[in-house]
Amino acid sequence: MSLHSPATLESEPRRIALLSDVHGNLPAFRAVLADIDAAKVDEVWCLGDVVGYGAQPDECVQLAAERCHLCLRGNHDLAALGRLDIAEFSPAAGAAARWTTQRLGGDARSFLEGLATQDETKPLGLYHASPRDPVWEYVLSTLLAGACMDAMEPRVGAVGHSHVALWFQRQDTGLPDAAPAPGGTERELSSGRWLVNPGAVGQPRDGDPRAAWLLLELPAWTAAWRRVKYPVDEAAAAIRGTDLPAVLADRLYYGQ
Ligand code: ZN
Repeated sequence: MSLHSPATLESEPRRIALLSDVHGNLPAFRAVLADIDAAKVDEVWCLGDVVGYGAQPDECVQLAAERCHLCLRGNHDLAALGRLDIAEFSPAAGAAARWTTQRLGGDARSFLEGLATQDETKPLGLYHASPRDPVWEYVLSTLLAGACMDAMEPRVGAVGHSHVALWFQRQDTGLPDAAPAPGGTERELSSGRWLVNPGAVGQPRDGDPRAAWLLLELPAWTAAWRRVKYPVDEAAAAIRGTDLPAVLADRLYYGQ
Protein backbone atom coordinates (compact mmCIF):
# COMPACT_ATOMS: atom_id res chain seq x y z
CA MET A 1 0.00 0.00 0.00
CA SER A 2 1.39 3.37 -0.93
CA LEU A 3 1.70 6.02 1.72
CA HIS A 4 -0.77 8.08 -0.21
CA SER A 5 -3.60 5.58 -0.52
CA PRO A 6 -6.88 6.72 1.02
CA ALA A 7 -7.74 5.72 4.57
CA THR A 8 -8.67 2.06 4.84
CA LEU A 9 -11.27 0.59 7.16
CA GLU A 10 -8.44 -0.61 9.40
CA SER A 11 -7.33 2.93 10.09
CA GLU A 12 -10.86 4.17 10.76
CA PRO A 13 -12.43 4.45 14.20
CA ARG A 14 -14.30 1.33 15.20
CA ARG A 15 -17.24 2.74 17.16
CA ILE A 16 -18.87 5.82 15.71
CA ALA A 17 -21.74 7.85 17.12
CA LEU A 18 -23.84 9.36 14.32
CA LEU A 19 -26.17 12.18 15.29
CA SER A 20 -28.07 14.91 13.50
CA ASP A 21 -30.42 17.86 13.86
CA VAL A 22 -29.51 19.18 17.30
CA HIS A 23 -31.44 22.38 16.56
CA GLY A 24 -30.33 24.47 19.52
CA ASN A 25 -31.75 21.99 22.03
CA LEU A 26 -29.02 21.93 24.67
CA PRO A 27 -30.69 19.57 27.21
CA ALA A 28 -31.24 16.98 24.45
CA PHE A 29 -27.69 17.36 23.13
CA ARG A 30 -26.20 16.93 26.62
CA ALA A 31 -28.27 13.80 27.25
CA VAL A 32 -27.21 12.26 23.94
CA LEU A 33 -23.54 13.02 24.59
CA ALA A 34 -23.81 11.41 28.04
CA ASP A 35 -25.28 8.27 26.46
CA ILE A 36 -22.55 8.35 23.80
CA ASP A 37 -19.90 8.60 26.52
CA ALA A 38 -21.40 5.60 28.29
CA ALA A 39 -21.22 3.65 24.99
CA LYS A 40 -17.48 4.43 24.75
CA VAL A 41 -17.30 5.47 21.11
CA ASP A 42 -14.14 6.44 19.23
CA GLU A 43 -15.63 9.34 17.30
CA VAL A 44 -18.78 11.47 17.14
CA TRP A 45 -20.02 12.59 13.71
CA CYS A 46 -22.81 15.16 13.37
CA LEU A 47 -24.84 15.44 10.17
CA GLY A 48 -25.75 19.09 10.65
CA ASP A 49 -28.49 21.51 11.69
CA VAL A 50 -26.83 22.30 14.98
CA VAL A 51 -28.97 25.45 15.23
CA GLY A 52 -32.47 26.62 14.30
CA TYR A 53 -35.76 26.06 16.24
CA GLY A 54 -34.20 25.78 19.72
CA ALA A 55 -33.30 28.53 22.19
CA GLN A 56 -29.62 27.71 22.80
CA PRO A 57 -27.83 27.82 19.44
CA ASP A 58 -24.52 29.24 20.70
CA GLU A 59 -24.25 26.66 23.48
CA CYS A 60 -24.99 23.82 21.04
CA VAL A 61 -22.42 25.02 18.51
CA GLN A 62 -19.82 25.28 21.25
CA LEU A 63 -20.58 21.72 22.39
CA ALA A 64 -20.48 20.44 18.80
CA ALA A 65 -17.12 22.13 18.29
CA GLU A 66 -15.79 20.52 21.47
CA ARG A 67 -17.23 17.05 21.06
CA CYS A 68 -17.76 16.24 17.38
CA HIS A 69 -14.81 14.91 15.38
CA LEU A 70 -16.71 15.70 12.22
CA CYS A 71 -19.60 18.10 11.80
CA LEU A 72 -21.60 18.95 8.67
CA ARG A 73 -23.85 21.96 8.32
CA GLY A 74 -27.48 21.81 7.28
CA ASN A 75 -30.09 24.12 5.81
CA HIS A 76 -30.85 25.73 9.19
CA ASP A 77 -27.15 26.39 9.83
CA LEU A 78 -26.90 27.99 6.39
CA ALA A 79 -30.03 30.06 7.03
CA ALA A 80 -28.59 31.30 10.35
CA LEU A 81 -25.49 32.46 8.45
CA GLY A 82 -27.66 34.28 5.90
CA ARG A 83 -26.47 31.87 3.20
CA LEU A 84 -29.84 30.34 2.35
CA ASP A 85 -33.07 31.98 1.23
CA ILE A 86 -35.67 31.19 3.90
CA ALA A 87 -38.63 31.84 1.57
CA GLU A 88 -39.26 28.07 1.39
CA PHE A 89 -39.16 27.59 5.17
CA SER A 90 -42.45 27.04 7.02
CA PRO A 91 -43.61 30.13 8.97
CA ALA A 92 -42.34 28.78 12.31
CA ALA A 93 -39.04 27.65 10.78
CA GLY A 94 -38.62 31.04 9.12
CA ALA A 95 -39.31 32.88 12.38
CA ALA A 96 -36.80 30.63 14.15
CA ALA A 97 -34.22 31.23 11.42
CA ARG A 98 -34.59 35.01 11.78
CA TRP A 99 -34.32 34.77 15.57
CA THR A 100 -31.24 32.54 15.33
CA THR A 101 -29.55 34.84 12.81
CA GLN A 102 -29.93 37.80 15.16
CA ARG A 103 -28.84 35.89 18.21
CA LEU A 104 -25.91 33.79 16.91
CA GLY A 105 -22.53 34.90 18.28
CA GLY A 106 -19.29 35.38 16.37
CA ASP A 107 -17.63 32.16 17.57
CA ALA A 108 -20.59 30.04 16.53
CA ARG A 109 -20.79 31.84 13.23
CA SER A 110 -17.16 31.21 12.37
CA PHE A 111 -17.42 27.53 13.37
CA LEU A 112 -20.45 27.03 11.11
CA GLU A 113 -18.77 28.98 8.30
CA GLY A 114 -16.03 26.35 8.18
CA LEU A 115 -18.32 23.34 7.67
CA ALA A 116 -19.42 21.41 4.56
CA THR A 117 -22.82 19.88 3.81
CA GLN A 118 -21.42 16.45 2.93
CA ASP A 119 -18.34 14.26 3.45
CA GLU A 120 -17.37 11.29 1.29
CA THR A 121 -13.91 10.66 2.80
CA LYS A 122 -15.18 8.14 5.38
CA PRO A 123 -16.15 4.46 4.92
CA LEU A 124 -19.75 5.68 4.53
CA GLY A 125 -21.06 8.81 2.80
CA LEU A 126 -22.30 11.54 5.12
CA TYR A 127 -24.89 14.05 3.92
CA HIS A 128 -27.08 16.49 5.81
CA ALA A 129 -30.17 15.91 3.63
CA SER A 130 -29.46 13.51 0.73
CA PRO A 131 -26.63 12.35 -1.55
CA ARG A 132 -28.32 14.13 -4.48
CA ASP A 133 -28.96 17.38 -2.67
CA PRO A 134 -27.11 17.54 0.65
CA VAL A 135 -28.94 20.70 1.73
CA TRP A 136 -32.58 20.33 0.91
CA GLU A 137 -33.97 16.94 -0.27
CA TYR A 138 -36.01 14.89 2.24
CA VAL A 139 -35.40 11.14 1.86
CA LEU A 140 -38.66 9.64 3.09
CA SER A 141 -39.84 7.41 0.22
CA THR A 142 -38.39 4.23 -1.27
CA LEU A 143 -38.56 5.79 -4.76
CA LEU A 144 -36.41 8.71 -3.69
CA ALA A 145 -34.08 6.51 -1.62
CA GLY A 146 -33.48 4.32 -4.70
CA ALA A 147 -32.61 7.39 -6.79
CA CYS A 148 -30.24 8.52 -4.04
CA MET A 149 -28.54 5.12 -4.00
CA ASP A 150 -28.05 5.37 -7.78
CA ALA A 151 -26.43 8.77 -7.34
CA MET A 152 -24.32 7.83 -4.32
CA GLU A 153 -20.71 6.70 -4.72
CA PRO A 154 -20.30 5.01 -1.29
CA ARG A 155 -22.21 1.76 -0.65
CA VAL A 156 -23.62 3.08 2.63
CA GLY A 157 -24.83 6.60 3.31
CA ALA A 158 -26.14 8.45 6.35
CA VAL A 159 -28.55 11.38 6.18
CA GLY A 160 -30.38 13.59 8.65
CA HIS A 161 -32.76 16.46 7.79
CA SER A 162 -36.13 14.64 7.97
CA HIS A 163 -35.83 14.09 11.75
CA VAL A 164 -37.18 10.56 11.24
CA ALA A 165 -35.10 7.56 12.36
CA LEU A 166 -35.25 4.99 9.55
CA TRP A 167 -33.34 2.82 7.10
CA PHE A 168 -33.48 1.91 3.40
CA GLN A 169 -31.72 -1.12 1.97
CA ARG A 170 -31.36 -2.41 -1.59
CA GLN A 171 -29.79 -5.77 -2.31
CA ASP A 172 -29.84 -5.70 -6.13
CA THR A 173 -32.03 -3.49 -8.27
CA GLY A 174 -35.56 -2.18 -7.94
CA LEU A 175 -37.05 -0.34 -5.01
CA PRO A 176 -35.25 -0.57 -1.67
CA ASP A 177 -36.80 -2.07 1.44
CA ALA A 178 -37.47 0.47 4.15
CA ALA A 179 -38.63 0.65 7.74
CA PRO A 180 -38.79 3.10 10.60
CA ALA A 181 -36.02 2.56 13.15
CA PRO A 182 -37.42 3.02 16.65
CA GLY A 183 -35.01 2.86 19.60
CA GLY A 184 -33.56 -0.64 19.92
CA THR A 185 -33.53 -1.32 16.16
CA GLU A 186 -30.37 -3.10 15.03
CA ARG A 187 -29.31 -3.85 11.46
CA GLU A 188 -26.19 -5.20 9.82
CA LEU A 189 -25.17 -3.01 6.90
CA SER A 190 -22.44 -5.31 5.59
CA SER A 191 -24.08 -6.16 2.24
CA GLY A 192 -26.20 -4.29 -0.27
CA ARG A 193 -26.68 -0.56 -0.42
CA TRP A 194 -27.98 1.38 2.56
CA LEU A 195 -29.22 4.78 3.55
CA VAL A 196 -29.71 5.30 7.28
CA ASN A 197 -31.05 8.22 9.29
CA PRO A 198 -30.20 8.33 13.00
CA GLY A 199 -33.24 10.54 13.74
CA ALA A 200 -32.99 13.94 15.42
CA VAL A 201 -31.35 14.93 18.68
CA GLY A 202 -33.22 18.18 19.23
CA GLN A 203 -36.58 17.88 17.48
CA PRO A 204 -37.64 14.27 16.75
CA ARG A 205 -40.58 13.95 14.34
CA ASP A 206 -41.30 10.23 14.45
CA GLY A 207 -43.67 10.33 17.41
CA ASP A 208 -41.04 9.45 20.03
CA PRO A 209 -40.02 12.63 21.91
CA ARG A 210 -36.75 11.10 23.13
CA ALA A 211 -33.51 12.30 21.54
CA ALA A 212 -32.08 9.99 18.86
CA TRP A 213 -28.62 8.83 17.78
CA LEU A 214 -27.07 5.83 16.06
CA LEU A 215 -24.13 3.66 17.09
CA LEU A 216 -22.19 2.30 14.11
CA GLU A 217 -19.52 -0.36 14.57
CA LEU A 218 -16.91 -0.99 11.90
CA PRO A 219 -15.79 -3.14 10.24
CA ALA A 220 -18.75 -5.34 11.23
CA TRP A 221 -21.13 -2.61 9.95
CA THR A 222 -23.63 -3.07 12.76
CA ALA A 223 -25.97 -0.15 13.31
CA ALA A 224 -27.93 0.32 16.54
CA TRP A 225 -30.54 3.07 16.83
CA ARG A 226 -30.70 4.63 20.30
CA ARG A 227 -33.18 6.90 22.07
CA VAL A 228 -32.43 8.93 25.17
CA LYS A 229 -34.82 10.58 27.61
CA TYR A 230 -33.98 14.19 28.33
CA PRO A 231 -35.66 17.02 30.29
CA VAL A 232 -38.06 18.28 27.61
CA ASP A 233 -39.40 20.83 30.13
CA GLU A 234 -36.02 22.57 30.18
CA ALA A 235 -35.80 22.86 26.40
CA ALA A 236 -39.45 23.99 26.17
CA ALA A 237 -39.02 26.58 28.95
CA ALA A 238 -35.92 27.96 27.21
CA ILE A 239 -37.96 28.42 24.01
CA ARG A 240 -40.88 30.03 25.90
CA GLY A 241 -38.43 32.44 27.51
CA THR A 242 -37.71 33.94 24.08
CA ASP A 243 -39.96 35.28 21.34
CA LEU A 244 -39.55 32.08 19.34
CA PRO A 245 -42.97 30.62 18.30
CA ALA A 246 -44.47 28.68 21.25
CA VAL A 247 -45.37 25.78 18.93
CA LEU A 248 -41.65 24.98 18.79
CA ALA A 249 -41.80 24.23 22.53
CA ASP A 250 -45.09 22.29 22.33
CA ARG A 251 -43.99 19.94 19.56
CA LEU A 252 -41.05 18.64 21.61
CA TYR A 253 -43.45 16.83 23.94
CA TYR A 254 -45.00 14.90 21.08
CA GLY A 255 -41.94 14.18 18.99
CA GLN A 256 -43.59 15.90 16.04
ZN1 ZN B 1 -33.20 19.74 10.81
